[in-house]
Parts: sequence; structure tokens; C-alpha cells
Amino acid sequence: MERSERERQMTPAERRRRMEAKRRRQKERARKKRLRMMILIGMGILALAIVGLIVFGIVKLVSGSGSKKIASKSGNFVIAIDAGHGGEDIGRSNGDAVEKNVTMDISSKLKTMLESQGFQVVMVREDDARMSKEERVQKANESQADLLISIHGGYSEDVNASGAVSYYNKENKQSKNLAETVQSALVKESSASDGGALEGSFHIISDTEMPAVLVEVGYISNAEEALNLADDSYQNEVAKGIAKGIIMSLEKTE
Ligand SMILES: [Zn+2]
Repeated sequence: MERSERERQMTPAERRRRMEAKRRRQKERARKKRLRMMILIGMGILALAIVGLIVFGIVKLVSGSGSKKIASKSGNFVIAIDAGHGGEDIGRSNGDAVEKNVTMDISSKLKTMLESQGFQVVMVREDDARMSKEERVQKANESQADLLISIHGGYSEDVNASGAVSYYNKENKQSKNLAETVQSALVKESSASDGGALEGSFHIISDTEMPAVLVEVGYISNAEEALNLADDSYQNEVAKGIAKGIIMSLEKTE
């Protein structure tokens, strides 16, 4: 390789300095290249993290929105439960199934279930005492509950009549919606035959200020159904169905 005139004239010391300067420049270029690579990799990781966060956020929003709304709503949401009959007013009875006890057993179970979901519960009848229709309506209204469920047993001269029925106040759209949802959840949970959601004119659903439903959980007049209604695990199924129905109806009206 032919050296230039300038290079030939350089002293060894000059040549060494020149070589060192060249090496330094090469080193510097390599360092800058590494730095650019690291910046690129860093930006890539950051971009991935941002995309990940956005996807996570969307998934969380979509999956969690329903239960979150219910949870925030349930905290100050008051549900009144009216256990039918009481005291010397025992309602209908058949064997072990005494209506005032069946209604209180199911109401107490329903109360526990709803409270475990964060709802506030007001019991219209708190113990085994007789209450007039007017007293019940007054107590329910004073509680300023957001909705009311009244629990009764059914009765028919036809001893074969069976199944659950939910009655609503036809003047109140939410009452009808609640009755339909509670009825379907109750039938699904307990396997009771489906008597449907029907218009009713009971004081407790017509004279109360909140959407209200009266559930006849089964026929006391039917021997087989009466046995079920006095049974603890069947009562649990009924209560669970009603609780699910209430929660589903709240989800629908969100
Ligand atoms: Zn009754």
C-alpha cells in the first residue's frame, strides 16, 4: 500500500498519535451505536408496557364494570323484607309447615344472603308478633327502603295446586320487572313449578312507596310442597333464588 507524502514525513510519535486518535474515533462510534440500540430497545419495552396497560385497563373495565356498579350501589341500597303473618295470625298451616314460620325462616335467610352482598336490610316484622297491614306499610315506607319483598305461602282448595308465584303492582314498572326477575331466579334455584309473575292488589305492594313484590313461595295446601317449605335446605334454595333475582333486576336497571 502506497503511503501519502504527508504520512511518509510523519515521525513515529506522530503516527502513533494519529493511530490512537483513529482508534478513539472508532471506539466513540461503537459507543454511540450501542447507545442508539439501547434507546431503541428501551422505547420498544416502553411501547409494549403502554399497550399492555391499555389492554389490561380495557379488559378490567369490561369484565369488572357490572359487579363494581352493584358493589357501589349495594352499600347504601336498602331492601325491606316483609315476613307474612306473625303472632296469633299463623297464616295457613299443613303438618309441619306453618306459614308465619316458613315466611320468617325464608326472610331471615334472605336477609343474611343480601347482607353478605353488602345490602342494608330492614325487616318489616322483626319477631313473632302480629302486625296489621297498615303497620307493615307504614314501617316499610318509614324505612325509605329502595325495594320491598314480601314473603307468603300460597293456598288453594285444590290440594294438587303447587308452585311459586310473584305478584307485582301494575302501577309500578320496576315492581313488574322485579317480580319477573325474582320469579325466574326462584324457579331456577328451587325447581318449584312456575306460577309466573302476576298482577296483585295486596296492600303491601300497592300502598308502599318503593317497587314491591309479594312472593308466594309455594302452596301450603299441597302436602308435598308444605314438606319442602318446612325444610331448611329447601328454604335456602328459595331464599337464594329471591336474592339472585333481586341482584339481577338491579343489574338490568343500571
Ligand atoms: Zn299469607
